[in-house]
Amino acid sequence: MKSFVESFLELIYPEKNICCVCGVYDEIIGEKYICVDCYAKIKKVTPPCCVKCSKPMDLGLNVDICKDCAGEEKHFETSKSPFEYDGLIKKCIYDFKYYNKPYFYRFFGSSLISYMNENNYNSFDFILSVPLHRSKMIKRGYNQSELLAKYIAGKSNIPYVNALKRTKKTSKQSSKSKSERQKNLKNAFKVKQSSQKIKNSSVLLVDDVYTTGSTADECSKVLLNFGVEKVFVITIAR
Ligand SMILES: [Zn+2]
Ligand SMILES: [Zn+2]
Repeated sequence: MKSFVESFLELIYPEKNICCVCGVYDEIIGEKYICVDCYAKIKKVTPPCCVKCSKPMDLGLNVDICKDCAGEEKHFETSKSPFEYDGLIKKCIYDFKYYNKPYFYRFFGSSLISYMNENNYNSFDFILSVPLHRSKMIKRGYNQSELLAKYIAGKSNIPYVNALKRTKKTSKQSSKSKSERQKNLKNAFKVKQSSQKIKNSSVLLVDDVYTTGSTADECSKVLLNFGVEKVFVITIAR
């Protein structure tokens, strides 16, 4: 069932065939929600990239895993993202998170669905999202990752489970170093006891951005401890 916020978003979403970035009208936009010109400005993650975290790598290197991932074991199987966290997409994600443009979730969601289908990254039992702390949820009114996860679930017929909760109010990650991020996130997540059905399953965890991988890793750790068999990750950008 759609929440009040989601029903409200349906109402404020710009008309069909209008680019959510520049507002131009074009009949070919349809369910892509973005025009050809704006889409061309977005940097895509292209191979070769790290098999674990999808970090772009230099051509000609005879390794398939990046230094970050080689130096430290991560609890998820792999993390994938269609876009590089830069330029236009960075601005769009910022607007999505902080400037009350939650309706961007349809553009991001449809980009993620296309990416998942093109890359055969779609065999999962459940879809989960990185949770916000209750106080942040109240302030913002929506959880951007949950909107995305539910959009993907709706289009892929993989059930969404609201399995994780954030038990610790963490301070902003973006200005922190990797070790500070990890410390900040320690014991920040829990799996809800009501989510027994995800035990022994393979899940896709949805988040907006992959930076150092600390959030994805911490969530994956608690999911594995709970009994989930495998965690895969997808974010809009990295
Ligand atoms: Zn446009
Ligand atoms: Zn890597």
